[in-house]
Amino acid sequence: MRAGIFHSGSNHPGNWLVIKDVPIPKPQPGEVLLKVIACGVCRTDLHIVEGDLPPLRPRLIPGHQIVGEVVAGATPELPLGTRARVSWIGGVDGNCWYCAHGMENLCDRPVFTGYSVDGGYAEYAAVRADFAYPLPPALDAIHIAPLLCAGIIGFRSLRVAGVEPGERVGLFGYGSSATLTLQVLRCWNCEVYVVTRNLSRRQAAREAGATWVGDEDARPPVPLDRAVTFAPAGKIVVDALASLRKGGVVAINAIHLDQVPAFDYDKLLWGERQIRSVANMTRQDARDFLAVARDAGLRPPVVPFPLEDANRALGAVKHETESGSAVIIL
Ligand SMILES: [Zn+2]
Ligand SMILES: [Zn+2]
Repeated sequence: MRAGIFHSGSNHPGNWLVIKDVPIPKPQPGEVLLKVIACGVCRTDLHIVEGDLPPLRPRLIPGHQIVGEVVAGATPELPLGTRARVSWIGGVDGNCWYCAHGMENLCDRPVFTGYSVDGGYAEYAAVRADFAYPLPPALDAIHIAPLLCAGIIGFRSLRVAGVEPGERVGLFGYGSSATLTLQVLRCWNCEVYVVTRNLSRRQAAREAGATWVGDEDARPPVPLDRAVTFAPAGKIVVDALASLRKGGVVAINAIHLDQVPAFDYDKLLWGERQIRSVANMTRQDARDFLAVARDAGLRPPVVPFPLEDANRALGAVKHETESGSAVIIL
């Protein structure tokens, strides 16, 4: 099969992956084999191929927003021919303290699709059956793929921030995940305040119904109840914190962040303001978000790339050159 391979330690910016033929994976007991239809491209993929996240294996097929068709290893829940989805959490041990307390996103021995195991930048992917879920036939694969990480993690960020309907919520950074998050917030009748340094993204946020939009040095004109940061820059966490009312929460939606600058506790954190990180997702987050997405009619703008152009797709995410989510189609 054709696959995009990342070799750990290779350092070729812009040419992170080698596209080549490799054997089709054999599903192990408990796994199904998917013929990949579409795989979303996430900023986390970029962190992996750029070395921001430590390599876990010498040779890796990235990609963790997979829609595919079951072609082997079928189960009663996933009969042959079923279209199924797989996301970043590709498995947990089920018996650590976190799994036992409803926090499988923090599992001590997790499987990460496209990071600790091969993912979906390939014609086929073997995935754990208990982390693959059937998709209704009506939903088209290309528009579902970006929901499977960007969408779910954005949704989890709103949960971690404790967003209630009608609140004032800041989004700091406005890429694929923030775009989907804004749509959910609009459904909840929240006022959305968007801060991004990118001029065309500011325009996009305005068109998507943001209450207020500003560049990175601007401050929202009112104190915010909640904020979610999306850009991998420590500075914006402090900016977000400075925009909160007392008791407000900043949720950091980033698996990797550069240094957070020192900040004034008395002014910025005192008053029971909180900073929380958002780590991974649970299967319940995925189910809940996809139900919200269906009810809200979420249909993210997408930019399709053939597998042979996977490096170009990663470049588009890196430089935010596209106005939609990059999706690799097989
Ligand atoms: Zn566990
Ligand atoms: Zn992701």
